[in-house]
Amino acid sequence: TQPSTTILGLGAMGSAVAARLRETGYATTVWNRTAAKTEPHVQAGSNTAATVAEAVRAGELVFVVLLDHARVREHLEPVAADLKGRTVVNLVTTTPGQGRETAAWAAEHGIPYVDGAIMAVPSMIGDTSARLLYSGDQHAFNTVRPVLETLGTAEYAGEDPGVASLKDMALLSAMDLMLLGYVQAIAMMRTTGTSAADTAGEVEAWLAAMLPHGRELAAIVDGGTYDTGGQSVDFDRFGIRSLITASREQGVRADLLEPHQKLLEELAATGHGDSDWIRIIERLTIH
Ligand code: NDP
Repeated sequence: TQPSTTILGLGAMGSAVAARLRETGYATTVWNRTAAKTEPHVQAGSNTAATVAEAVRAGELVFVVLLDHARVREHLEPVAADLKGRTVVNLVTTTPGQGRETAAWAAEHGIPYVDGAIMAVPSMIGDTSARLLYSGDQHAFNTVRPVLETLGTAEYAGEDPGVASLKDMALLSAMDLMLLGYVQAIAMMRTTGTSAADTAGEVEAWLAAMLPHGRELAAIVDGGTYDTGGQSVDFDRFGIRSLITASREQGVRADLLEPHQKLLEELAATGHGDSDWIRIIERLTIH
């Protein structure tokens, strides 16, 4: 038999989750702070609840899709007793530490808990292109897995409840730094009147050609010796200085490039000028 589900939070994401669960035949009970947002869901066949406690008691599986971690704690803590024995799947974007904190709280209260991270936008929910990461209680994950699979690709990332959020944040960090690359290139090229669109096209082609290089760098990191004779710290220091100078010559700040230079200078100053430049990753670890 299919578990009954509760969805707390009917924003863009919570609404998509509720709709998908309903479409795939699950009994759904919805709760939202602004009650008016429950109406279309009720019309489509969901039950609604006046309070979080009532909503929670209606579902064997409780999805939390509120805005942030603070909202999660604020709304779950008062209903800990009602949640006992039900499985909570937290789809709210959190940091790894926040995920672990909620998992520890849930464990204290006998609540099977799975921490999730959604690598998708609401319109993708229900499609296999939507990638959802989960971590924490593996038994709980396995139990509710068929339900999670209706939302998208369900990937179990590990027992550490923080690891789904960690992967989410790591991938978002990569995206952020990549997009900053577009910003820098566009800022430099528009000083000569080149449109952002034209530069973006150039950047896209260049990055696509360079992408395989990422795995080569990863192999050096995994090797751990940083002595493959590839591009060295000293070579790269010279290169990055040229990028910074070029930017400033054009009247463009080089703030986005400076952190890279800083890390390379630290390595050179500690006698690693001959190392593979990717050794900067060792400088990132906070001791
Ligand atoms: P929305 O802003 O659309 O919805 C926010 C939800 O949180 C609403 O249900 C809102 O209720 C509720 N809420 C906000 N403040 C409070 C409060 N003080 N008390 C009670 N409820 C509150 O956000 P999304 O649905 O887009 O996002 C929900 C989660 O999903 C976030 O953690 C987000 O990071 C994550 N996510 C979203 C993605 C997206 O593309 N949208 C992608 C991946 C993850 P009300 O209707 O009353 O305002």
